[in-house]
Amino acid sequence: MGLQEYFAQLGQGIDLVAECSGLSAPDLEKMGASTHDAAELISLHTIYFGTTPYTGKQRLAVDAARRNGHCLSTLRLIESFTRRVKEQRAAWNLRLELCATPGEQVSAVAKRRVRELRVPHKYRERALLRQHPNGLATLTVTGNALDMADAFRTIDQQRPGASFVARMLGKTGAAPAARTRVTTMAVLQLEDYGKILRRKGDDVLVRTTSGAVVTGAQLVERACANEGLITVISRTLGPVDLYRFERFASLKQRTMLAAEHPTCAWPGCNTPAERGQFHHLTPWKHGGETNVSNLVTLCSYHNGVNEDDPNAPPRRGRLTRKRGTIVWQPPHTSR
Ligand SMILES: [Zn+2]
Repeated sequence: MGLQEYFAQLGQGIDLVAECSGLSAPDLEKMGASTHDAAELISLHTIYFGTTPYTGKQRLAVDAARRNGHCLSTLRLIESFTRRVKEQRAAWNLRLELCATPGEQVSAVAKRRVRELRVPHKYRERALLRQHPNGLATLTVTGNALDMADAFRTIDQQRPGASFVARMLGKTGAAPAARTRVTTMAVLQLEDYGKILRRKGDDVLVRTTSGAVVTGAQLVERACANEGLITVISRTLGPVDLYRFERFASLKQRTMLAAEHPTCAWPGCNTPAERGQFHHLTPWKHGGETNVSNLVTLCSYHNGVNEDDPNAPPRRGRLTRKRGTIVWQPPHTSR
């Protein structure tokens, strides 16, 4: 057989499979196929031409594979992916999509789909104990990611069991592990940081240097509790926020505000935040709180012209926060 003939056959994988109708693996072997090839052809024949509850998808898949000229190795590749999908309908949907995909893209599309179909494991708080035959046991505890990371760091890796038990049960005799103060650093996108500032941190996932992944809201809660800078009031899982606490923004708040507005927030002004002032959107004397959502960076000039008093005659307009974003509100408009 010449190369030309071979290449012509190559693009007709599904037709070669169709020709196996009424044949068994031993029949194919008698025709010269290897045991492996024979088994594979019969298996492909069962899939594409055998009985299935999904005859409609099966027919479409055969047509698509023929149209794309999928060779036998592509059909084999498709099966290597559909095999990983347990649910039959989902497997057929994937097979059909891959048959309809040009050969050179099959692998990439399949990898993406299989990843999407993977059901994420649902972790929940729990404790497990596994006894081992040599007198040891393994305790597995699943809980709040930051707490678990902190707890893990208190374990002495030289003697993990003993140090853990000493801490948990307060057993004497074992030297207490020195409480190491480690600062967890959160690494997050600037865009996500803004979301957290705007109290929309619930859907922001933050990776911390302790390895724990937490939501933005958890991070804020944690930072507040740890720093002791501000008072956190959670009204039955309500928003964690800073309530009237101090007149002037803390260093922490200044840093956060500068991150939100690196320059004066007044439209068109480029005075750097470092030379700016921190302005209460709702004035302190009108009950405005010193929290990041009520503060904004302004240069001294714009802090002066911003109309603080909602009852004063409007001249230059004022800044306000709408749906989390600082906007300039022109004069003669109501709040
Ligand atoms: Zn300014």
